[in-house]
Formats: sequence, C-alpha cells, structure tokens
Amino acid sequence: MISVKNITKKYGEQLALSNISFDVKKGEVVGFLGPNGAGKSTMMKIINSHISADLGGVIVSDVDVSIDAVAAKRLIGYLPENNPLYSEMYVREYLEYVADIYKVSHSEIEKVIAKTNLNSEANKKIAQLSKGYKQRVGLAAAIIYNPDYLILDEPTTGLDPNQIVEIRNLIREFGKEKTVLLSTHIMQEVEAMCDRVIIINKGELVIDEYISDFKGKDNNICKVVFDKKVDLEMIEQFEGVEVLSNISEREFQLKFSIEDILLELYKFSERNNCKIIEYKISEKNLEDTFRELTQ
Ligand code: ADP
Repeated sequence: MISVKNITKKYGEQLALSNISFDVKKGEVVGFLGPNGAGKSTMMKIINSHISADLGGVIVSDVDVSIDAVAAKRLIGYLPENNPLYSEMYVREYLEYVADIYKVSHSEIEKVIAKTNLNSEANKKIAQLSKGYKQRVGLAAAIIYNPDYLILDEPTTGLDPNQIVEIRNLIREFGKEKTVLLSTHIMQEVEAMCDRVIIINKGELVIDEYISDFKGKDNNICKVVFDKKVDLEMIEQFEGVEVLSNISEREFQLKFSIEDILLELYKFSERNNCKIIEYKISEKNLEDTFRELTQ
C-alpha cells in the first residue's frame, strides 16, 4: 500500500501541496487528476523520494520514503513527465544500463523488451524512435527491476491516438499485477483504466472516489422525450422537478427530488395527453465534475 499522510510542500512562497492524504491499496489502479499546476508531479516526486515534503510523510509497503529513499526507489517504477532518456544510447544498451543500476540480471532485458513490444526497435538509437516507442522504453526501464508499484506521470501526453491506445493497453496489462498511480488531465483515460480517481486542484484534494461509486451517485437527473410538444411552463409547474435544459420542444433534461419520477412522469403525460417515448437516467459525468471542481 502507498500511504500519503498530510503532505504539504512549498517551493519558496509557492504552495504546491496543502495537507494531502490518501491511500493506494495493493492492486489498485488510481487516476491522479488535476489541471496543469495542480501539484500532481510534485506529489509523485515526493512518493518516489525524488524531492522531500515540508510536512507529512509517505509510507510505501513498510518503507518510510523520507528515511530510506533507496529502498523506496527499488519498490517503485517511476516514469517521470517528459520521460527523460539518453537519446544517444541504443535501446538495449540503455536497458542494460538501468539493469546494472538496479543490479538486475541481463536476462531480464529480453523479457522486458518482449513485454513492452520493443523487439523491432531494440537495436536502434533512442533518438531515432517515435514518441510512442520512446514511451515504451521509459516503461521498460520502470518495470525492469519488477517493482510492486508503478508511478506514471502523464504517460500518454503528446502521443497520437494509436500510440495512446497502445500505451493504455500496456498500462492495463501492468495494472493486473501491480499497484499503479497514474497522473493525467484526460478524464477518459481515468475512466478507461482506473478503479479510482483522486482529483487535486491548486494543491488541495477535492475528490477521492471509486469510479463505480462516482458514476452511480448523481442519479437524480434524467432525460425524457415526449411524442409531441410539451409546454415548458407545464413542466416547470411539475412539483419536485427542475428543468435543467430544454433540448427541443419534446425533449427535456430534468433534475428531480421526488421518489418515483417515472410514475410521476406517466401521470404527467396522461394529464397532458402525450406519451413518453424515451426516458433515461443520466450518469454522472467525470468531465463535468472535473470542470466544476477545478475551475
Ligand atoms: P502538475 O504536475 O499538476 O502540473 P506541479 O506539481 O508540476 O503540477 O506544480 C505545482 C505548482 O508548483 C505549480 O504552481 C508549479 O509552478 C510549482 N512548481 C513546480 N515545480 C517547481 C519548482 N521546481 N520550483 C518552483 N515552483 C515549482
């Protein structure tokens, strides 16, 4: 487990993180969301003991990262933002170099090359690779020593749509075996890959929720379509219902506070001589919530 407790970090006068606490349990894939400048990279660097916090602490498994940075780094595979690589090195040579740092047998290199589908590029210079393949090299270097945890800082930024899908598939594969904390500002990425979402804004934690709970939560919004025009005023007089949008003269998005909205809508349609031809409860949308909380 990664346990983050009351982390505060300032760069000079700039407050980057303010009293942040959360846990990432074994086997979870957690999306760490926030607009640019929210503090995501700072948090990830602290967990990986690249930089230290001013207040609070981080425990990874049973290692206090501020006390034993070497042990923490051995437990965590870290792909930093912008994936810094030695562009003049060859792919296999670079992976040998990383394997030597972590005292890993060179037999692991071929395994990791196969795992990240780097076979066709293994003899090329890193500078010659496409961005998608460079990202795979970064991922290969992060997992070569078989860490239990993966911390990935915006791993799909700057990739084309095909490369994004490939890297997401790789991360999904890793997520079956490892605990993953992944930062991004792409909401769909979190919905596609993660069990849980943590949103931070201006250094503060604003949401920590399971995606399944999150989606099921706000189910008091619905869309209804009638077979013919319904006066907006009639709907507005409907007690316990608020019109959120009037999509067309027959279609409405409603927020309701009454128990059995469908039954009430049927009664309403009978009173008004029309029929309901479509009815749908809206799912809470992560993108809307993100904007609401971080604007
Ligand atoms: P994110 O990863 O969410 O974009 P960062 O953690 O990079 O956010 O940055 C959080 C805040 O800290 C920003 O206001 C940023 O400008 C500031 N910051 C980050 N790194 C440094 C640094 N080395 N020196 C000064 N300020 C920094």
